Amino acid sequence: MIEKEKFLIVGGGSGGAILANSLAKEFDVTVINDSPNHYYWPQLLQIAFRNDYSNLYRPLSSLLVKGVNLIIDSVKKIDLQERSITLSTNKKLSYDYIAIAPGVTIDHKSIEGNEKLVNQFGDFHSTPENASKVFNIVNSMKKGTFVISVGDPYHRCPPSPYEGILLADEVFRLRGVRENINMVLAVPYPRAYPAETFNEVLEPILKERGINVMTFFTADKIDTDNKKITSLEGEELSYDAAIVVPVHKGPKIEIKPEDSVNQDGFINADKLTNQILSYDDAFAIGDASTSTNAKTGVTAHLQAKVVAKRVLGLDAKNTGRTNCPTEIGFQKGTFVISDYNHPAVKVPANTINFIMKRLFADVYWDVIKHPEFWDPIFDVYFERTEPEVLWRIFK
Ligand SMILES: Cc1cc2nc3c(=O)[nH]c(=O)nc-3n(C[C@H](O)[C@H](O)[C@H](O)COP(=O)(O)OP(=O)(O)OC[C@H]3O[C@@H](n4cnc5c(N)ncnc54)[C@H](O)[C@@H]3O)c2cc1C
Repeated sequence: MIEKEKFLIVGGGSGGAILANSLAKEFDVTVINDSPNHYYWPQLLQIAFRNDYSNLYRPLSSLLVKGVNLIIDSVKKIDLQERSITLSTNKKLSYDYIAIAPGVTIDHKSIEGNEKLVNQFGDFHSTPENASKVFNIVNSMKKGTFVISVGDPYHRCPPSPYEGILLADEVFRLRGVRENINMVLAVPYPRAYPAETFNEVLEPILKERGINVMTFFTADKIDTDNKKITSLEGEELSYDAAIVVPVHKGPKIEIKPEDSVNQDGFINADKLTNQILSYDDAFAIGDASTSTNAKTGVTAHLQAKVVAKRVLGLDAKNTGRTNCPTEIGFQKGTFVISDYNHPAVKVPANTINFIMKRLFADVYWDVIKHPEFWDPIFDVYFERTEPEVLWRIFK
């Protein structure tokens, strides 16, 4: 019997688990994950604004198909030249192929005062515990200024701060306190949403809901005693309750050679193929990679499929497709759909898009476990909703 080649996957999240399940027949696949659980991060928004924990995590072992080996340990070092990885236990593993998919590291310390602020009010980009603090504040605040401020434009899920402020608005309205609360969204961009075309969809919604948008405001320093956020641009913003979208950095793994990571620890990979530098046996996918144009699970999924095809000898390439479901409250939603060649389409907010978002969440676990079933369905979905096609409809 011919021995299968060894394929190591660092991180069993959205990208790593799909890749493992897509290659289980052809390779001797091992996933190394530092937690026994696989987290569905979009649920942090549902915890923060609905106290809904239902879809938060599943045991990773239950999501991997037969034949995929799973090691629960933290990878501390990867040597691309030596083709080896070192675990926290100092155990070394060698490989024929490697895909690095450990996601991001949330760094509250990068913004002075943010650790204290998160202790008080939480956030919805780090942990379920912090998301539950947000739920407590939006359900107890009666008056004053409520702020969501973006401290890092490269955070996970580009529309999430907008979903956050609009879902907070929904909670305040349902609680009957909205009139007494001044809501502010402070962003580093020249307009509410960074992509000009999608801003045409979101800005009118924010306006209609009475949310004040502060542009050119990158949270830099937080004075929790005096309840003030100062921006890099030199402006000040007072708050009674505030959530700052924290700085995201690359994984805490020593990767050699050193030029395979950038100054923030993200892994330098080709945006079309996910290959790391000149190593044709090494790939970085998902949030941890510089090749990711939007830090979303859909991107990680599509990149995993490209890598799976490439190691099987096909010339697959990323198109840069995004497909970010964006909930705006009151059972309405829209999608941020773009690719490398087309800006975000002006998809209007409606109930169908909200239902689609919920459907994606409901089938998520099955999509991870059974790529062979879902791939053809998604191929049709992505073809029918190509930005080029949608741009003809939503001009
Ligand atoms: C509030 C919010 C809303 C979101 N909404 C959406 C959405 O609607 N649609 C969408 O597509 N995306 C959404 N996202 C983004 C999406 O969750 C991420 O982009 C996606 O999970 C990235 O997948 P990944 O595989 O790169 O990383 P992850 O899914 O984060 O997986 C990384 C895995 O690596 C493991 N790991 C980390 N370090 C190590 C180590 N040293 N050794 C071993 N294992 C390690 C982790 O435990 C984890 O299991 C949202 C994110 C947030 C925070």
